[in-house]
Amino acid sequence: MMKHELPKLGYYYDALEPYIDEMTMEIHHSKHHQAYVNGLNAALENYPEGQEMTVEELLKNLDKIPVSVRTAITNHGGGHFNHSFFWETLNLNGRKFPDGVLAQKIDEAFGSFESFKDKFGQAAISRFGSGWAWLVIDHEGKLEVLSTANQDSPISDGKTPLLGLDVWEHAYYLKYTNKRVDYITNWWHVIDWTVVESRAANAFR
Ligand code: MN
Repeated sequence: MMKHELPKLGYYYDALEPYIDEMTMEIHHSKHHQAYVNGLNAALENYPEGQEMTVEELLKNLDKIPVSVRTAITNHGGGHFNHSFFWETLNLNGRKFPDGVLAQKIDEAFGSFESFKDKFGQAAISRFGSGWAWLVIDHEGKLEVLSTANQDSPISDGKTPLLGLDVWEHAYYLKYTNKRVDYITNWWHVIDWTVVESRAANAFR
């Protein structure tokens, strides 16, 4: 059986200071994300047909997964995929704004980059309880901002995520306590838009 593994980060836990603190990163990656990986592997022990599938394949085919393991794979597989996706976009020294085709599509869809950030921030703030905010490509090939509950992933809905923000309390509470809005505002400082652009380039190709 193919065991899912915690991905290594391309940076140290303190690399995103002061916007995301070292202790939050260490616990988030080594405890929370590891728990999703472990939970996914445990669920797959009861679903041999899924053992050779990638996490993306599992999440894109939830309706074909037996009900007895579907919730576990939705939560833990989603947690594994969403966090891996999240870590990849974080870089204190990345480019701070989109360029090229993606910048043009953001302007077309939302009016401007600032309007997009407002809309994304609203989705992140208004997600009640735990979940994620996303920039995705929808079924018509258009950009869309949305949020999902818990560890639900847009790929299960046939959408292509370009950027995701974890708004679970575990993502910010040690540093920001209840001030989710401050966490969201600061998070923009650690996005590497070159990563988001390369995802968009693959999707729009
Ligand atoms: Mn998280």
